[in-house]
Amino acid sequence: MEFHASSPCPCRALDAEKPAYSRCCQPFHEHRASGEVLPDTAEQLMRSRYSAFVLGLAGYLLLSWHETTRPADLQLDGELHWEGLQIVKTRSGGAQAVRGVVEFIAHYAQDGQRGSQHEVSTFVRENGAWFYLDAL
Ligand SMILES: [Zn+2]
Repeated sequence: MEFHASSPCPCRALDAEKPAYSRCCQPFHEHRASGEVLPDTAEQLMRSRYSAFVLGLAGYLLLSWHETTRPADLQLDGELHWEGLQIVKTRSGGAQAVRGVVEFIAHYAQDGQRGSQHEVSTFVRENGAWFYLDAL
C-alpha cells in the first residue's frame, strides 16, 4: 500500500485536526522492535494499532499484542477498507498507569457497504511498553 509520511495519520481521519503520519503513529511503527519510541498512553497504542491495521502492518500488531493473548499468526482482511477511528472513552491508561481501557468505534467499508466495529479494549504496560490484552 502506498502511503506517505506527510499524509494525515489514518487514526486521525475523522478528527478536525489531522497530524501527519510522521508526527503521529509512524514513529511507534518504526521503533517498536527497538523500543526507542513507545506510546505513552493506552490510547496512543490503540491509535497506532488501528493505523497498523489500515496500513497492513501485521508485524506491529503482533509486537504490540500481549504474549498471553497474541495469536501465532495474523492474516489481515484486505477486503476491509478502514475509514476512521473514533475514541469513545478511555479509562486509566495514562502515562503513569499500568492498565488502561479504551472504548472505540472503527469505521470501515466492505463491498460498498459501511460498517463499524465497536469494542472496549484493555491494555497493560510492562517494562514501559503498552500491550493490547483483550476485548471486554
Ligand atoms: Zn496516528
